[in-house]
Amino acid sequence: MPLHFEDLDVISATRDSRSALIVPCNMCPAATVADRENKPFLRLFKDFLKSAPFEKYISTLQNRLREQGVRSKVFKSHLPHQWFLCMWTAARQRKLQKHARQYDTVIVLGCESATRTVRDSIGSTNCKLIEGMETTGIINTKLSLQFPCDICFKDSKVIPISPPEKGAQPTNTEPSSTTVANIKRSVSRLIQATH
Ligand code: SF4
Repeated sequence: MPLHFEDLDVISATRDSRSALIVPCNMCPAATVADRENKPFLRLFKDFLKSAPFEKYISTLQNRLREQGVRSKVFKSHLPHQWFLCMWTAARQRKLQKHARQYDTVIVLGCESATRTVRDSIGSTNCKLIEGMETTGIINTKLSLQFPCDICFKDSKVIPISPPEKGAQPTNTEPSSTTVANIKRSVSRLIQATH
């Protein structure tokens, strides 16, 4: 169920930048690029855990940034557990903050959750944050394994999702103090009832 994206105009957004750190999520954006180019998502024998279409997409973006005088580097995630920006460890976030200090701009390639992770990571730095992609739907596809060991998508469809309402805040998954107080009261009544 990877998300599907449309590209945003990164080149216009970086007009005032001198340097940019590109932070790609290696899952949904890579799936989107492979799917729209109708190319294998992974060729395990040839590229192992790199999605060649997405690698090419990023290097094209870097070339275009270079043409307008923006020095760029990719914050690479080699290990599969680092691929998903929505599930990064605190150590990974600290590492990004350290690297981001050397750039005036950070470009996120991923969904709103990826942007949230990057925003939280770069926290106190003065980096400008730019979103390079916009979520437009969810990919519905058939996974297929093709010779010799290529992972491909077949018969893909994009299921549209509606954008969140303006000003909507992320749901807080931690219980509120009122909820905690209610739970404590219920537990205490339960204990009393069983004595
Ligand atoms: S951060 Fe977003 S784009 Fe990346 S894997 Fe998670 S849901 Fe997909």
